[in-house]
Amino acid sequence: MRAALLLLATTLAALGAPPTPESWFGHKIGADRELLDWAKVVSYFEALGRNSDKIRVSEFGRSAEGRPMIVAMISAPETLRDLDRYREIQRRLADPRITTPEQAEPLFAQGKNVVLITCSIHATEVASTHTAVEFAYRLITEQKPRFQSILANDIVLLAPSINPDGVDIVTQWYRRTLGTPFEGTSPPELYQKYIGHDNNRDWYIMTQPETRAVVGELQNKWHPQIVYDVHQQEATASRLFLPPWLDPIEPNVDPIVAQGMNMIGTSMASDLTSAGFKGISIHSTYDFWSPSRAYQAFHAGLRILSESASAKLATPIDVPFEKLDRQTLGYDAQQSSWNFLEPWPGGHWTLRNIIDYQEAAFESCLYQAAIHREEMLRAFYQVGRNAVNRTEPGFYIPMNQRDPGATRRMLETLNMGQVEVTSSPDAYAIAMNQPYSNYAKALLERQQYPDIREYPGGPPRRPYDVTAHTLPLLFGVSVQRSPVAFLLDRPVLAALSAFNTDSWVAINKIWSAGGRVWRNPESGDFAERAGQNDVEITRPRIALYRSWKPSIDEGWTRWLFEEFGFVYQRVTNQDFDKPDLHARFDVMVFPDQPAADLDTGYKKGTMPGAYTGGISEAGVREIRRFVESGGTAIFLNRSTDYALRHLGVGSASVTDNIPNTEFYSPGSLLNVELDLRHPLTRGLPKYLTIWSEQSPAWEATANSVARYPENEILASGWLLGENVIARKSALLDIMLGKGHIILFGMRPQYRGQSYLTFKLFFNAVLYH
Ligand SMILES: [Zn+2]
Repeated sequence: MRAALLLLATTLAALGAPPTPESWFGHKIGADRELLDWAKVVSYFEALGRNSDKIRVSEFGRSAEGRPMIVAMISAPETLRDLDRYREIQRRLADPRITTPEQAEPLFAQGKNVVLITCSIHATEVASTHTAVEFAYRLITEQKPRFQSILANDIVLLAPSINPDGVDIVTQWYRRTLGTPFEGTSPPELYQKYIGHDNNRDWYIMTQPETRAVVGELQNKWHPQIVYDVHQQEATASRLFLPPWLDPIEPNVDPIVAQGMNMIGTSMASDLTSAGFKGISIHSTYDFWSPSRAYQAFHAGLRILSESASAKLATPIDVPFEKLDRQTLGYDAQQSSWNFLEPWPGGHWTLRNIIDYQEAAFESCLYQAAIHREEMLRAFYQVGRNAVNRTEPGFYIPMNQRDPGATRRMLETLNMGQVEVTSSPDAYAIAMNQPYSNYAKALLERQQYPDIREYPGGPPRRPYDVTAHTLPLLFGVSVQRSPVAFLLDRPVLAALSAFNTDSWVAINKIWSAGGRVWRNPESGDFAERAGQNDVEITRPRIALYRSWKPSIDEGWTRWLFEEFGFVYQRVTNQDFDKPDLHARFDVMVFPDQPAADLDTGYKKGTMPGAYTGGISEAGVREIRRFVESGGTAIFLNRSTDYALRHLGVGSASVTDNIPNTEFYSPGSLLNVELDLRHPLTRGLPKYLTIWSEQSPAWEATANSVARYPENEILASGWLLGENVIARKSALLDIMLGKGHIILFGMRPQYRGQSYLTFKLFFNAVLYH
């Protein structure tokens, strides 16, 4: 008895009052000019976990820079004590092949609605980490009836940031610039080590550790019915955006999922309006096309997005009513309309305001999940049934591939997305009667993006992101819809075939181990020992240009180099003023970004002095000397314009000054034909698809390495005005002195997924 009392006392002591956010952080959450440090956010959640039986906190991964990624599981204490059981219910409802409708019936009654809330993936959108801190505290301490309903019906997985490196990058930059003219600016570096703002475009290719942790440890294990991703938008649009989404909706999204997003988003908007929040927009700005932004919607769950109007990080702003945006896609922020019923009157706007809207939205989303619990579990199960009952033919991937490395990586990518692949001696097969066949189909088929105009006969309406996501075209893997006739002869590949993605990893390993590499000038194949006609190639000394205006493509290029084992150095504007570049490097790479970023960078007075300006005139002379003395300068996509303006090579793109009514390729896969006599094309097929984002194209000359065909240029996505680029060049190799300037009218290393054209880029890197 005495022992039992003692034990009870200890338990009560252990469950002391959870600390208030204010006591932990030393200021009220959302106070002007205060941002949070990640370590303190983590320790706060751990303190909540120690002091409440309604919350459990665990680390589920590490970020690119090694910071812990944490999730708080919040629910009723009895639910948290039985989490394994609820996870098993989720697993069984997610796969109707192992659960008959009769078996599912009691699970609808017993199960919980699992809602994953992911905060601050875009680190300058600072508010939601704050919201997560305060909301978690309130949810476990307040006796509000709605909170009781949430705890009873939902399992909340709250990730206070899924980009913790970014939290610290932004907080530290903010503190450094606080009280200066640059207070509230974005940091002059990517806020995720490699891919910055593209980190929410990584959800099918899954290149980054953060993506793999969230998908692998939370989404694939918990099968959430809702993933609510919390963002911020510009200051002058609506105060908060919620679904429904704009058209187009990717055709492989199950209509049950699409209707669910309409329902939850509209209910949240209704709820916030009832609570007095003004300036709520629905059905605007954001379409629902690219799976790179919507993993869960292809896995039977809803993707809810909210976008709050921003302040200047934690610095308040004033937004006069007449400055509110009248041109936002879908509504006029100064006018009432069915999807924007109450305009916000304008005025002072602070971090605290954003948090207030977000907390109301968190509560509403979780409450909708609670009151619709059973019907949402039924809908979730039905989406899986629709998938497993499909009878259409599957996809077949012949074993005979020219690039076994890319084939394996494509299958690994699908596997990470829970696509089941079977194999026979001839082929891999992906059946359509499996739970996530819609996801597989979206990634394996060609996209036909609808021709959507701003008004009938008007200009094309810009897609929110890109329009193509066909992995076989990106990876250079042949795929077919029929199991018969694998006619491809099994190619006899050299050990280090130039066709094979793996060879490029292998040669870097050989170099790193101190070995030597030869290359056959005809086939392009590599060898560790010289064969007849082989030429020794030396490891390229690569300079990668880094401007102070962060370029996501620069980050992707770094990722690519590291993934394949290339060694590189980053060079900034100041490095070009040192007259020894030609001695230090063989190759210089200028990633995709506007020529003005290289030229002028941040203008004086907009950022601290060290980060302003571009490459100087002396720097331009040094680039020229570098090439003339035998170096290779590679310009990717938009930066080719810099080569034209400052090095006088190439000609203006034929797409320059053409209105988008006459030419438009907003992230599409286009067909080109290579000149296989050219050394840049070694290890590549004659016909291939390249990634175009309004990419430049040039009059075809003797320097042309890749050309668009006469017609049928679009391979996947959306293209208007193919006649503008028909027969024009997409890749130029221009001699200057003893060196080369290579202009890519494409993104050859697009978001870490265009394995086919990686090889074009790597050939250019070895081209010295
Ligand atoms: Zn965002």
